[in-house]
Parts: sequence; C-alpha cells; structure tokens
Amino acid sequence: MAGVNIENLSKTYTIHDQEIKALSNINLTIKDGSFVTLVGKSGSGKTTLLRLLCGLEQITKGHISFLAPEKERATGKERISIVFQEPRLMPWLTVQENMALPLIKEKDRQQVSQTVAHFLDLLGLKKFKDAYPSQISGGMAQRVALGRTLCYDPDIILMDEPLGALDAFTRKNLQTELIDIFLLEKKTIIFVTHDVDEAVFLGQRVVIFDGGSIIEDVPVPLDYPRDPLSQNFFQIREQILRTITGK
Ligand code: ADP
Ligand code: MG
Repeated sequence: MAGVNIENLSKTYTIHDQEIKALSNINLTIKDGSFVTLVGKSGSGKTTLLRLLCGLEQITKGHISFLAPEKERATGKERISIVFQEPRLMPWLTVQENMALPLIKEKDRQQVSQTVAHFLDLLGLKKFKDAYPSQISGGMAQRVALGRTLCYDPDIILMDEPLGALDAFTRKNLQTELIDIFLLEKKTIIFVTHDVDEAVFLGQRVVIFDGGSIIEDVPVPLDYPRDPLSQNFFQIREQILRTITGK
C-alpha cells in the first residue's frame, strides 16, 4: 500500500502554441489505505491529475511523491493502476485471460490461476470466465477491468469515472461492490466522478475541483455502507453541490 503527497502541482498543455492551464498549484495528501473521490465539472482537471499520478503525462511544475505505510519507506517502485471509463479489454482474450494479463510474465502459473480465481469469485464472474468481451454486458466488462487491476495488486488504484457508462442499477451494485472490495483489500483508491451522490457514497473525503484548482476538501465521516437517504448524507451532498454551483 502507499499514500500520495502532491505539492504545488501544475500542468499546462500546449496546443498550436496556445497554452492551456489544466491544473494550477495543487496541494493534496492522500493517506495510505484511504478512499478519496475527486469531483468537479467537466474540464476542471480531474483526469489530468490521474494521468500525472500514473505517469501518463509529464509534470509542468511541482512534485508527486508516494508515501509508504508506517515504518516502511517508499521504494520508488510503488505500483499504480488506472481503470478508465471504458473497460479497454482485449477482444480476443477471454474474461480470465484479460484478468491475467498483468501477470503475463509471472513464472508461477499456479499462483496466477489462484489469484485470477480469487478475483473472479470476488467479482461474481466465475460463470463467465471463458466468455469473450463481446459476450458479456457493460457492467460485467467493467468488473473484468477492475479484476485485471486487482490481479496486478497495485498499491494505489486510480479510477476515472469507471461507472459513468453504466445503467443506474448496475452502477449502484458496482458502487456497493467497490466498497466491499476496498474494505477487504485495503487499497488506496482515488476515484474521479462528476456525480456528487457517487462521490459521497464512496469517498472518505471528497475533493472538489474547479478550473484546475482544489476549491474544497470535504471529509465524509460516515460508516460504510452508507444510506443516501439519511440526513447526514443529504447535508454533505448539499454542501458539495453548493460549492460546485457557487450558490
Ligand atoms: P476533467 O477530467 O475534469 O473533465 P481534464 O483533466 O480532462 O478535465 O481537462 C482539464 C483541461 O485540460 C481542459 O481544459 C482540457 O481541455 C485540457 N486538456 C486535457 N487533456 C488535454 C490534452 N491532452 N491536450 C490539451 N489539452 C488538454
Ligand atoms: Mg475527465
């Protein structure tokens, strides 16, 4: 496991000599083993932050460092994995082969089979292990994408609106499953969404982005599983909505 420390982080993209400031002066510390959600309007810089965290983009200014759990030191080899809005599965591989992809170089194939079997079971995919991506639903495909990430056993899981393309029922189910997985696997999760209900349902903290900056960092001191109809949930949700809309 690992946490993250982000200091004075800025990112500017350049397109045809025009500079686009995607992030300015971000400071954020995410504790090892915590679940943080990032919310904000489209274009507020959420995806850019995830891409910087996993090294898909270069930092313009500032620092990202990884924090090791208590007593251990950060190794500089922290494993980070990202789940996108689309599952991005290999169509020619079965469900279990897709999940085993990050372990392709692993010599102990029996261990690989056991790991894959564990997550197939956890994600309710056992019956579909030999199916191809074209033969499963969108919700299942997203479960496979999550399973592939879990097989990799990362210290930090980044998720960029991973449930955004799913229908409301499937989305609700997967939100609950994600909490179960978080409680079981104790990973650090940084989850981007533009859905405030989802952010409050999942995050121990909701970090609000606007125009490339963090405008508020709201703790969610509610036990899991959360009741979206409870008064506390409602109050936190309203506070976040007011901050985002500026009302
Ligand atoms: P969000 O995920 O919150 O919708 P993004 O991080 O995708 O926001 O985008 C933040 C800003 O950076 C936007 O103005 C967007 O147009 C710009 N941007 C994002 N990616 C690129 C890119 N690869 N090249 C140029 N500009 C980009
Ligand atoms: Mg985005």
